[in-house]
Amino acid sequence: MALNVVMMGPPGAGKGTQAGRFARERSLLKISTGDILRESIKAGLPVAQRAKELMDRGELVDDDTMIAIVRERLMRPDAQRGFVLDGFPRTVAQAEALDCIVAERNNGPLVVVDVRVPERELVRRLAGRLICAKCGTNAELPKAGDTAPVACAKCGGELVQRTDDNEEVVRERLKVYERATKPLVDFYRDRPTFRVVNGAQAPGKVEHELDTVIDDAALVVARQEAAASVKAVTAGKAART
Ligand code: ADP
Repeated sequence: MALNVVMMGPPGAGKGTQAGRFARERSLLKISTGDILRESIKAGLPVAQRAKELMDRGELVDDDTMIAIVRERLMRPDAQRGFVLDGFPRTVAQAEALDCIVAERNNGPLVVVDVRVPERELVRRLAGRLICAKCGTNAELPKAGDTAPVACAKCGGELVQRTDDNEEVVRERLKVYERATKPLVDFYRDRPTFRVVNGAQAPGKVEHELDTVIDDAALVVARQEAAASVKAVTAGKAART
């Protein structure tokens, strides 16, 4: 059975970093819709111009475009072992579409993790973030007195600030998150596979907590399915006697 994970949380919660690590360690496909959009913009794809305008204002790209992008990726063979979604779903309409895609794939449940971080900390993190223009890895802006990193520690690429990581756009992204994406918590809250993680801890602690809650949620589903199949076998035997 595949392991399918949605990593939810506000911009700056660290979900991209955690999604990448978790996907690598478990050999799952990581799908970051923000990265896909940024790559489309770099490649000058026709859909990208409009997306760039919206992203630079901190607004959301339309649901139909995003759902089509994710559907196409999730139907590829390399998604069959499971996936980790970062940045999708961001609206209830996207979440409903994802449920349909997961049901069509019929390959394992959806575990949803909400990574929570207080707003003050999010603004501090985002306004102080640099990313590698080549491989997208994050690097911290230096604190007062420290020298600035000149190149990406991983690939040597140039470090730049994302065009939507200035304070004004960050505040807009957080507002959009409150309005459009937070209602998703209510959409998922009552599922046995919904979990919350404290993203304001040291990265190692966040990793540990994430691994624990995802494994626990997957176990809950496995137990439920095993109980259901025992019940079906017992009911079949009873019907035959
Ligand atoms: P962050 O989580 O830090 O805001 P992302 O890289 O996930 O950054 O997204 C950057 C921008 O890309 C968003 O502000 C939005 O404009 C667009 N975007 C990404 N994913 C989606 C999505 N699922 N639906 C709509 N817009 C999206």
